[in-house]
Amino acid sequence: MSFASLGLSDALVRAVAATGYTNPTPVQAQAIPAVLEGRDLMVAAQTGTGKTAGFALPVIERLFPAGHPDANHRRAPKQVRVLVLTPTRELAAQVHDSIRAYAAELPLKSACVFGGVGANPQMKAIAPGLDILVACPGRLLDLVGQRAVDLSKVEVLILDEADRMLDMGFVHDVKKVIAKLPAKRQTLLFSATFSKDITDLANKLLNNPARIEV
Ligand code: AMP
Repeated sequence: MSFASLGLSDALVRAVAATGYTNPTPVQAQAIPAVLEGRDLMVAAQTGTGKTAGFALPVIERLFPAGHPDANHRRAPKQVRVLVLTPTRELAAQVHDSIRAYAAELPLKSACVFGGVGANPQMKAIAPGLDILVACPGRLLDLVGQRAVDLSKVEVLILDEADRMLDMGFVHDVKKVIAKLPAKRQTLLFSATFSKDITDLANKLLNNPARIEV
């Protein structure tokens, strides 16, 4: 199986090859077509399975269908089209680096925000509007409170390592973020395991999700 046969366009297939990937991993083979169809996802996958590309590649494809650089007309000041929530700044930075590598040939605008560093550069990065924002929940809520970011037009929400987000006590922050999002959106939930807490959260957030376990 190839990345092209999963429905990704040439710009992404070339970027993936340049990254050194030859074939999709199992989670990618299942997640990429489901995300391209617009489905919600509930994925049980550990770090190391290639889960990041499993959501990032099809989401970028949906932002730039068939690799058309001008397909991103919906960006507006402070608005975000795709939001990725992660539990730690390290994971946020890693996910953001991966997204930038996959979008190397595309005019994708993205930023990464987390606490412990100044907010001003993050506000400046968001100001023109973004295709993808990767964020830790606490800092994101600070920025929402300061009206530095507008989440009312988010089309896709990704919860990465949702189990760690709950373990670290971010459940209220995550719920506050979700309350700012449109109800009509695509939601992708990734977790190492499907615990009861995760299943409860998934039942609230996901609409007829495709279930993937690797
Ligand atoms: P992740 O599970 O997303 O943290 O990815 C784990 C590692 O696998 C990262 O270093 C990725 O660059 C790498 N990776 C992701 N997809 C593939 C693939 N299809 N082929 C080879 N390596 C990959």
